[in-house]
Amino acid sequence: DAPLLEVKNLETAFSIDGTYYNAVDNVSFRVKPRQIVGIVGESGCGKSVMSLSVMKLLPKGIGQIRNGEIIFDGIHLEKMTDSEINNIRGKDIAMIFQEPMTSLNPVFSIGFQLQEVLFNHMKISKKEARLKSIALLKSVGISRPEKIVDEYPHQLSGGMRQRVMIAIAIACQPKLLIADEPTTALDVTVQAQILELLKEIQEVNDMSVILITHDLGVVAEMCDEVIVMYAGKIAERTDVDSLFHNPKHPYTQLLMGAIPKMDEEVEKLSTIKGIVPSLKNMPKTGCKFAARCPKAMPDCLTVTPQLAENEAGHEVACLLYETSHPKQEVNA
Ligand code: SF4
Ligand code: MG
Repeated sequence: DAPLLEVKNLETAFSIDGTYYNAVDNVSFRVKPRQIVGIVGESGCGKSVMSLSVMKLLPKGIGQIRNGEIIFDGIHLEKMTDSEINNIRGKDIAMIFQEPMTSLNPVFSIGFQLQEVLFNHMKISKKEARLKSIALLKSVGISRPEKIVDEYPHQLSGGMRQRVMIAIAIACQPKLLIADEPTTALDVTVQAQILELLKEIQEVNDMSVILITHDLGVVAEMCDEVIVMYAGKIAERTDVDSLFHNPKHPYTQLLMGAIPKMDEEVEKLSTIKGIVPSLKNMPKTGCKFAARCPKAMPDCLTVTPQLAENEAGHEVACLLYETSHPKQEVNA
């Protein structure tokens, strides 16, 4: 299967006091048609910046793609102008964010906001747009869509608003949906319903999904493949079964340990000591996880581990594995 999205050697930098620092540092990955790819890591690990780069939604004058290729459906997005990318964004690639950071506008009705997306990308009459809006609301499990279509965001619950955002996202039948922490702010029951809905619409619409989350439980539930990110780099990438049965990177192993068990009151991710280094304080050499890694060795401070296949379909970037050692002339 040819990939729907291919990101090659992506480098995205942010300017702090006039100096650029890489928030995404030489990242490559692929998303196949109909695949759900999870991107997981703590906040500050670069996962949102990566998705904003793909959508070319980086804050102007601050964030910048400095290198790499983003090939979507055969088209180089990184070379596109703003107006060209506008035709793709919202149509072929859609995005949903964490509620309440969703971009529902409080002053317009739900129907108005749905129809706005339809008018932007389709030739469609007002009447058709209204009918389609109602059908879309119905398809995301909203009961009485004929009533909801005329209501305003504040009249809906957080879960309902997120359903509306999903309806807007799928309005033009995108090939790729990027969902950034779509359920993080919702309570557990609603979260499960929204994830269920995402999976259902992924199947019905034959979409690919990039699901960005800090929650490995969500990954286990939803994803085919998983990319674990740390400090702007990919630490590990494999299919969901290998990740859970055979996590190779110490960071992944710690994330696993940080999954709260049903009968224990463990705060999420709290068991990993320390924090993701800030862009300004990123170690210049060696493994960026070294300061927090329980398995760190002296070499980890000077040698940068390479992301490489360690077992078929399972890539890891850690010096515990021979495959991650930088390539040298081997004179056997
Ligand atoms: Fe830990 Fe070293 Fe592996 Fe980095 S390279 S994850 S510091 S063992
Ligand atoms: Mg984020």
